[in-house]
Parts: sequence; C-alpha cells; structure tokens
Amino acid sequence: MKKTYNIAIDGPAGAGKSTIAKRVAEELGFVYVDTGAMYRAMGLYFLRKGIPLEDEGAVSASCGEISVDIAYENGVQQVLLNGENVTALLREEAVGNTASKVSAYPAVRAALMDLQRGLAASYNVIMDGRDIGSLVLPKADCKIYLTASTRVRAVRRYKELEAKGEAVSLEEVEQKIIDRDNRDMTRETAPLIQAEDAVYLDASAMTIDQVVERIKELARERGLEA
Ligand code: C5P
Repeated sequence: MKKTYNIAIDGPAGAGKSTIAKRVAEELGFVYVDTGAMYRAMGLYFLRKGIPLEDEGAVSASCGEISVDIAYENGVQQVLLNGENVTALLREEAVGNTASKVSAYPAVRAALMDLQRGLAASYNVIMDGRDIGSLVLPKADCKIYLTASTRVRAVRRYKELEAKGEAVSLEEVEQKIIDRDNRDMTRETAPLIQAEDAVYLDASAMTIDQVVERIKELARERGLEA
C-alpha cells in the first residue's frame, strides 16, 4: 500500500486546532479528520438514549450499538451516527461536555480507534484530537501540540457564544475551559499530553495565518514533498 503522509495535531479545547487543521488541509490537499466530532457523535448517542454518563458499565455496554462513520461532502467532514448525518448537531455545548466525560472510558475510545487509523492509512491526513500523536498515530510524520492560554481561549469562546445570543460571563467560560482541560489531561485513559516528538506551539500571540505557515514549514522539514 502506498505510504500516506500524516500530520497529528493535539491540544486543549479552543486552541484553534480545527480552524488551523482545516486550512492546512486545504492548502496541502490533505483530508482533515476531526476526531473530536467522532467523540461528540458518541456523546450525542448517550444523551439521546438518556444513558447515565457516570455509569461506565452502561456506557461501555452500549458502545456495541453505535456505528460512527465519516463521509466527505465538498471536502467537508460529515459524521454519520448509525447512518444518520448528525454533523449539524455536534457543536452544542451539552454534546461537547458529554463527549469530554465519556471519552475517558476505554470502550468509547476503542470504538473509534480503527476508524481513525484506517483513515490515516488510506489518505494523507491532518488529524486533530487529544491523543493522536501519542496513541492513535504514534508514527505520524509530523506532530504538533497546539495550545493557547486559558484566557485567550475563553475570550474566543465567549465571543462565539455572544454572537449566538447566549448570556454567559467570561469568567464562567474560562472556568469551563479549565475544568475541561483538567478532565482531558488527568484522565487515566489517553490523557491529553504532548507526545515526546511533538513540536510545542503556543498560539496565544499568533495569527491563524502564522500558525498555518509554521505547520506547513514543519511538515516540509519532516519530509512532506510539496
Ligand atoms: O475537540 P472537541 O472539543 O470537539 O472534543 C470534544 C471532546 O472529545 C474533548 O473534550 C475530549 O474529551 C474528547 N476527545 C478525545 N480524544 C480526541 C478528540 C476529542 O478524548 N482525540
């Protein structure tokens, strides 16, 4: 099988991973794989079914009923949950929080691993998540750990919520980000960590263009022929 080129981007929520990965994918002609959306689809299933999230046994037992698939429409990732296109439902706050809780369970992670590895083996991908460089694609050609300060990430999220007309305070948003970081970084299974061979990029004071250029440069330095 032809060797594919894989770029892994990990980092905390709100660091700009998806915006940046999408841009890099477009510019390099790569497939963008958003693994957070896969966990969100699993979260949506548990929410709809009313499965108690703190009951690991119940959550794990229902993983067998779930099939998550990925399709691409005009280059944009679509997530199918048991055949239903749920992409438009995945950005809700409640879905993200559910994803963050259930993604700590090994059965949930195992359910998505083959899908993620299969995509990386079939296409040149830029894949973002929490454990891509450390666990899913340990041999990725180029690994980035992308982060930004909690305040910078909170301000971004706050503006998004404000634009949607949701009344929240910046402090509240920042606290949620801190809580989500803690959950993602301290869980036993696949915690968010910087892989040893990942390049650390703090984007707090960088523009999107600057981060995109830096990643393209790193990929070229690591053998990407483009
Ligand atoms: O990146 P996003 O906010 O869409 O991810 C939602 C949640 O899914 C994260 O808070 C994280 O707990 C989980 N996740 C994960 N591993 C990944 C991607 C996301 O555990 N590779």
